[in-house]
Amino acid sequence: MKQRPTTVDSTVKQALEEALQRFSSNHHGKNASYIPYLASVPSHLFGISIMFCDGTHAQVGDTDYAFAIESISKVFTLAHVLDELGPQALRSKIGCDPTGEPFNSVVALELHKGRPLNPFVNAGAMATVSLLEAQTPQARWEQIQATYNAFAGRQLSVNEEVYASEASSNQHNRGIAWLLQSYGYMYADPMEVCAVYTRQCSVSITCHDLVTMGAALANGGVNPVTGKQVVAAKNVAPILSEMTLNGLYDTTGDWYYKVGLPGKSGVGGGILAVVPGVCAIAAFAPPLDAAGNSVRGQLAAEHLSRTLNLSLLH
Ligand code: GLU
Repeated sequence: MKQRPTTVDSTVKQALEEALQRFSSNHHGKNASYIPYLASVPSHLFGISIMFCDGTHAQVGDTDYAFAIESISKVFTLAHVLDELGPQALRSKIGCDPTGEPFNSVVALELHKGRPLNPFVNAGAMATVSLLEAQTPQARWEQIQATYNAFAGRQLSVNEEVYASEASSNQHNRGIAWLLQSYGYMYADPMEVCAVYTRQCSVSITCHDLVTMGAALANGGVNPVTGKQVVAAKNVAPILSEMTLNGLYDTTGDWYYKVGLPGKSGVGGGILAVVPGVCAIAAFAPPLDAAGNSVRGQLAAEHLSRTLNLSLLH
């Protein structure tokens, strides 16, 4: 059995180069288009980063291109709310089970009497935002922003063009927010919450930011670059459980089968995988499969997991 690397070495660099070369010419999938801005992002972009718990990192391709975090934001809002309320409250108010339906499904909500089942479908993500204790929308937003900044180790910003694009096309999410309210799973004003949720999805990150954010989860909640504890160590396992079960929409099982790691993807083309105690992998490539996951991002993660022996199942 191959040794797992614990720092950037020549094997790691070679695996990254191989992944870039092997999958750059894969043109399967399509950019998300239900959010107009995302359709305009150049489809050929492809970046892959890895960061170890010792803070060493390596990257190939377009790892400085800023893209919309989208659904991956749900991981970090969850981290904030877990630190405020603890895992038990989260589990009873939202849950940690797959819905078996697409991420924006209304059917799933209706089937379970409004209980969102997990914080990574849009319903559960908005319920999570609503659980955060804040008196005003601004205060709610600032807490989320501060958490994301701590994870990334720098000041992130919202891409206002993405926000405007999402805010003008998020009628479906607004419908979900009202439905949650009607079933008693919305814990603040639904339209205020939907707006803050839309804003969190519009945060601009690079692959390097994403891998740093993931490395903090790999490293027991401590950002390996800044050395700051950004989420309580005891809350990392609940986050990774959610990523394991629900990170890649309704094809999370397929991902786990191939990659063997907790992951999270977003319709902006980003994807994150976490190897607890070892490293994080982040990739960015806009074209998505039918479930909403980056095609090349998944291939890159699978390649690195296999080549570097990172799967948790080995
Ligand atoms: N803002 C997107 C939405 O709510 C995020 C979805 C995603 O990345 O899965 O539809």
